Amino acid sequence: MRNWENNIRRVCPYVPGEQPKDRGIIKLNTNENPYPPAKGIMKALMDYNADNLRLYPDPSSYELVKALAERYGVKSSQIFVGVGSDDVISMAFMTFFNSDKPIIFPDITYSFYDVWAEVYKIPYETKPLDENFKINENDYLCDNGGIIFPNPNAPTGVYEDLDKIEKILKANPDVIVMVDEAYIDFGGASCIPLLKKYDNLLVIQTFSKSRSLAGARIGFAVGNERLIKFLNDVKFSVNSYTMNSLTQKIGIEAVKDERYYKETTNRIIKTRERAKKKLIKLGFEFPDSKSNFIFASHPNKPASEIFYELKMRKIYVRYWDKPRINNYLRITIGTDEEMNMLFEALEEILKK
Ligand SMILES: *Cc1c(COP(=O)(O)O)cnc(C)c1O
Repeated sequence: MRNWENNIRRVCPYVPGEQPKDRGIIKLNTNENPYPPAKGIMKALMDYNADNLRLYPDPSSYELVKALAERYGVKSSQIFVGVGSDDVISMAFMTFFNSDKPIIFPDITYSFYDVWAEVYKIPYETKPLDENFKINENDYLCDNGGIIFPNPNAPTGVYEDLDKIEKILKANPDVIVMVDEAYIDFGGASCIPLLKKYDNLLVIQTFSKSRSLAGARIGFAVGNERLIKFLNDVKFSVNSYTMNSLTQKIGIEAVKDERYYKETTNRIIKTRERAKKKLIKLGFEFPDSKSNFIFASHPNKPASEIFYELKMRKIYVRYWDKPRINNYLRITIGTDEEMNMLFEALEEILKK
């Protein structure tokens, strides 16, 4: 080993789901939306004047922030936007988790949280979900340096009531509590209304799932304006021009088309409910999901085998060889046609 290697920030990086190059794959592995983005986006792309690219983008994303503030009934000063919610959460970790006490999050959760904690050298502890993959709120009543969890949780899809979240908020007035609502648009109630009562709450959402824009990279946080100011101070100390001007335009179109967003999220919810019935018929077991995926396990066949067999049939789902969840598959809800092909394949695989 060379001496300079002693002073390197070493991390074990987050591993995103596979993005296969070949066509004809039924892609149910990264919770993307199977429907195209809002129509206005195509028009915005066509109308975009390439000469704009000569100039730096608006570093505050003023128009996009304004559209979001109107949509969510808050002030512009309460919105922070970033390049995907991964960027927003990463900035929020850097800004708000600076205590010597450990931050806490569930043992089974979005696998980026421990990576950010490691890269920013933030001490952390995980709290086990119960046997139904539910959060035990009493685990979060201890002394800590901050809290984060997704609602609904990933990769379980399990939704927690606002009562439980409020209990956690009430018990932790001295730290920042972040609720990652990446999947809230698929049937859960957002805790944005709780911002009126709790100035230490930060709610994070994304355009990647419910607004079909994973490739555009747009995420945002809603919080008390002091929190948002601190977040912007850190962002402007790292990189001012994160979101490009074209993406800002696209984002505004997506927020404006409320009807299309409702229509597609409702369609996904409908397909999800049908998928639940079908999976039960096939013998699968899963916690109830309020997201755009189902986290399922089969008593007769190991998840790793089903995963492999599906892949052979060009159907990709997500599998983790990790404690407690290594017999589960996370299946993204696709179109009805895609789901029918999945069910057919599963029937065949389970018969063998
Ligand atoms: C998908 C996801 C995100 C990140 O999404 P972006 O594409 O970066 O906006 C954040 N949290 C959870 C729990 C997710 O599943």
